[in-house]
Amino acid sequence: MAFDPQPIVEEFHDKYTHQKEFLQVVDSFLNKVTPFIRENPDYQDRGVILRMLEPDQIISFRVSWVDSEGKEQLNRGYRVQFNRALGPYKGGLRFHPSVNLSILKFLGFEQSLKNSLTGLQLGAAKGGSDFNPGDHSDLDVMRFCQAFAAEFFHIANSEADVPAGDIGVSEREIGYIFGYTNKLKRKFSGSFTGKSLESGGSCLRPQATGYGCLYFVEQMLRDNDLKPGKMTANISGAGSVAIYACEKALEMGIKVQTLSDSRGVLVDKKGLDEEKLAFIKEVKMEKRGKMEEVAEKFGLEFEKGKKPWGYACDIALPCATQNELSEEDAEKLIDNGCKVVAEGANMPCTNEAVDLFMKEGILYAPGKASNAGGVSVSAFEMAQNRLGMRWSAEEVDEKLRQTMKHIYQQCVEYGGKINGKPNYVTGANTAGFARLYRAMKNQGVF
Ligand code: NDP
Repeated sequence: MAFDPQPIVEEFHDKYTHQKEFLQVVDSFLNKVTPFIRENPDYQDRGVILRMLEPDQIISFRVSWVDSEGKEQLNRGYRVQFNRALGPYKGGLRFHPSVNLSILKFLGFEQSLKNSLTGLQLGAAKGGSDFNPGDHSDLDVMRFCQAFAAEFFHIANSEADVPAGDIGVSEREIGYIFGYTNKLKRKFSGSFTGKSLESGGSCLRPQATGYGCLYFVEQMLRDNDLKPGKMTANISGAGSVAIYACEKALEMGIKVQTLSDSRGVLVDKKGLDEEKLAFIKEVKMEKRGKMEEVAEKFGLEFEKGKKPWGYACDIALPCATQNELSEEDAEKLIDNGCKVVAEGANMPCTNEAVDLFMKEGILYAPGKASNAGGVSVSAFEMAQNRLGMRWSAEEVDEKLRQTMKHIYQQCVEYGGKINGKPNYVTGANTAGFARLYRAMKNQGVF
């Protein structure tokens, strides 16, 4: 009998009614992999598919701390250990007020397919807290991170669970959590990635997701006879993914017209350059300030409350957060001549927006493929820590390029074509699913 995803969809919608982001990713995944499962009898074990959709373990804990004004503060911390079949649990920590189980389960499941796609030995997890570093002084961020580490230190382990950063968790937060974890464990171990170089981090880890995304775009353009030098790009976000995506895009000769933050969009019709980008890095990454400051200094437009998708461009790179590009935004992009969409963020496009891109023949790269550069360089950081060595930036960059090429080729191989264009979304889901399925099947039922 042909594989029918509907009972699984119904069961999950009944069981997890309020976890809308998690259900969104489950629906999209089953929709994309069903044709492959139907054509390949070796992949029809329903038990494996169901286990793949359920996290191995969810850990939730209280984080109580006292701020620098002596006020007691309370946050919730989580770790969703999604799947260990391909290696130690691996995936970032997110500090943002919106963090809840639905978001962490969606991110954890996406991570399991993404990590599978890299071909590296990486299990999948995601975690974090509803704490917002942006609302606190540096001293309070350190206090919070130490309180978080006091609950978390027994989970982080170089052979079992190796967290990294994500939204709100940069080298600074990783440094504080890593330092305090080592104090509590009375040892120095590579139990986190995204560390500073001095603490055993890898060259190019901060740049890896943004650079990797553009290496993926480079292949999309080459395969489809498009030349980067003649193209414009709109990027959302002004965090590590967006800023390094912008840096690499400029290197490739692409004209970047926007970056954005949670307050609005910075528009530069003439195109951002190195000087402006250096100032954006200083304001957004070092001083954690507002984009308005950049607009003021260079006399650029800042459109409060707006997104980058209403402005004409050839390439759209959503690099901020989930569901930031709706069907309506997709319509505007298509009407204005956009040809390529590659996700730097996790699930930034809604399912409806993705369907529209596919229908209209837009080249669309899903985040689990195009943003996998970050976790890949995290795997290289783990390898360097195990070897007690540091690879040069050139060596890491070359390995990153090769990994993105491998991911791209799998997307093409497993995805086939839709409307005459490569179907990267089906390719990424199916290739990620197939490797993970085989590992889980080999390891038995437990
Ligand atoms: P950062 O915290 O460094 O930056 C996030 C950026 O997005 C900030 O500019 C922030 O604005 C903006 N932003 C956050 N929420 C919203 C919103 N609701 N609307 C508009 N803008 C918003 O995070 P990262 O750059 O690390 O991560 C960005 C995305 O990439 C996330 O989806 C993450 O999961 C994904 N990702 C990250 C990886 C990594 O290596 N870091 C790896 C793979 C995926 P503001 O400055 O105002 O807060």
